[in-house]
Amino acid sequence: MAGPLIELEDVWKVYPLGDVPVTALAGVSLAIDRGEFVAVTGASGSGKSTFMNLIGCLDRPTRGRYRLDGVDVSTLTADDRAEIRNRKLGFVFQSFHLIARTTALENVELPLFYSDLPFDEHRDRARRALEIVGLRDREHHLPSQLSGGQQQRVAIARALVNRPSLILADEPTGNLDTRTSVEILEVFQRLNRAQGITVVLVTHEADIVAYAGRVVTFRDGRVISDVRHASQSAPAAAGPAGAPS
Ligand code: ADP
Ligand code: MG
Repeated sequence: MAGPLIELEDVWKVYPLGDVPVTALAGVSLAIDRGEFVAVTGASGSGKSTFMNLIGCLDRPTRGRYRLDGVDVSTLTADDRAEIRNRKLGFVFQSFHLIARTTALENVELPLFYSDLPFDEHRDRARRALEIVGLRDREHHLPSQLSGGQQQRVAIARALVNRPSLILADEPTGNLDTRTSVEILEVFQRLNRAQGITVVLVTHEADIVAYAGRVVTFRDGRVISDVRHASQSAPAAAGPAGAPS
């Protein structure tokens, strides 16, 4: 479909909390195209999670318009939004939200329970998703038998199993050490480049620029900067021949 995948027009989110309502988003306008890898940064409380919940159809704006794939999400019922989430979106969170005493493979299969896919295909799909994140050899492990980075890979595989066009990750590296964080960012980068999945990822990693093509920064519920970076694979511009050095 033509047009951006995600389109917010003057979106506000106000929480009616006691006497003083909290304005979590204050007029956000933003468009994200298919195939982008967008990093979202900003101080704690700046509205990042509120933004992610809105674009993930987990919540609705107080004011303004949000279109996902050309559909105005604000007008949809809760059931319609749930259906969009299952069909188009994959979620990854800071705390991996894996089910204890359930194997990696079974955790990844779980979202398919709600799909129309024949039951005997569930296992194949889940195995393929584990393969993509490099964990095929850990399918029978329980979460407690996996490292933090491996648990997050299982969570990413679970987000992938429905073949979403968009993956939303809210501080997926927040509980991981720097080296493991880099590995996880590389997994998202691979999904974006090799599978063409659009990725929107909240992070505090300072060198996220190396992975994401675009960095959007929030402050006090507003976008204060939105910077695109030249693709890493783009050839460096050659200077004129014989130019003085
Ligand atoms: P971030 O993810 O950047 O830390 P959030 O989007 O979680 O920020 O929060 C933005 C603001 O909205 C904060 O001031 C927070 O306290 C407030 N907030 C978030 N969720 C709720 C809620 N459910 N009810 C009331 N206030 C909320
Ligand atoms: Mg948050």
